[in-house]
Amino acid sequence: MSMEIAGKLGRFSFGMGDRFAQQGRAQLAACAKALEAGVAITPVWNKSHREHAIVGSRPESVRREADEAVAALGWRGPYFVDADHIRLETVDAFLAPCDFFTIDVAESIGRPASPESLDAFCSDAGDCGGAFGLTRQRVREIAAKYLGAVQEAARIYRRIEGAKGRGQFVTEVSMDETDAPQTPDELLVILAALAREGVPADTIAPKFSGRFNKGVDYAGDVAQFEREFEADVEAIRQAVSRYGLPPRLKLSVHSGSDKFSIYPAIRRVLEKTGAGVHVKTAGTTWLEELIGLAEAGGEGLALAREVYAEAFAHREELCAPYAAVIDIDPARLPAPADVAQWDSQRFVAALRHDPRCPDFNPHLRQLLHVGYKVAANMGERYLQLVRACEETVSRNVTANLYERHIRPLFAG
Ligand SMILES: [Zn+2]
Repeated sequence: MSMEIAGKLGRFSFGMGDRFAQQGRAQLAACAKALEAGVAITPVWNKSHREHAIVGSRPESVRREADEAVAALGWRGPYFVDADHIRLETVDAFLAPCDFFTIDVAESIGRPASPESLDAFCSDAGDCGGAFGLTRQRVREIAAKYLGAVQEAARIYRRIEGAKGRGQFVTEVSMDETDAPQTPDELLVILAALAREGVPADTIAPKFSGRFNKGVDYAGDVAQFEREFEADVEAIRQAVSRYGLPPRLKLSVHSGSDKFSIYPAIRRVLEKTGAGVHVKTAGTTWLEELIGLAEAGGEGLALAREVYAEAFAHREELCAPYAAVIDIDPARLPAPADVAQWDSQRFVAALRHDPRCPDFNPHLRQLLHVGYKVAANMGERYLQLVRACEETVSRNVTANLYERHIRPLFAG
């Protein structure tokens, strides 16, 4: 009987994406700094099927990167490799190397469940104890919208459980990549349905209100976000006590990088309630590679300018898959001919996410965020230069994760 590992995720966990699998050690160093400061954060390396497809990599490469980083730094705590945003048709390639699965059922929201299963759920759930003012009628409305998606999550969960064994992986259910946010009463009904379908969710990623654009700050009403986040924590507490979901169940915040203005709100709610959280970041590290290249000057800077010129030339194609999660004003993008004249300092100032810096340009930053395909197409030429500039790159990768993310969220 092997030991259960799902419980090792802990109260605080931090998802780190790394498009090119070069920065595992620099990323882990940020969690090591948190531990030195007295806060245990479980590192999770995440990469989606979409990222693998664009970069041309395989899920095994993330496992290798994580294991190597852990060995190199002598990390003794738990760590995970996350099959990010998988579905039934993409999960198989992730089964062996991963031990954290983000089951994405956003596309199934609104897909009707059978009338029999809807009736059965509603008769069991009743009014969910009247929490959040729920009535039988409202529970039925919510179930009509989400039960099909929950049943799809259960199908995917059972596929993973069949391959890995119960308790041998972390189960995350995500519904964030959709148009409308889920309200706390919807979250409670969704969790009731997951429990009834036998999905022991460890983390759940709803869509929150406000905009979570890639690589830039939150756009929305921060006070409203805080109320909603706290109500979601309460929905989880109720679901755990009512429906027997794992007591460790916690929220997962996707597109969590760079959302500086809501970090104090998240932290207040965690302190007040004692709840845990998983915060998932992705493209942030690739942008720090570019910053490190630019900072190094010479060939590094030349490559960073070239990446921008290519991204600018192909901006429509690069932005299309991410249209729902970026807001780029083309008129605010600098001309590549101008960027070609920039020195290290000017390039770094435009790209680094320092909202107080007058040269910071969120349009350029978002374009480069989704522009990693340009570097992927450069292949070895890009990777060799990133390795050659390791000193400036890794310093930026670690400082970004620790100073701008982990510290304000968790560590003082
Ligand atoms: Zn997501």
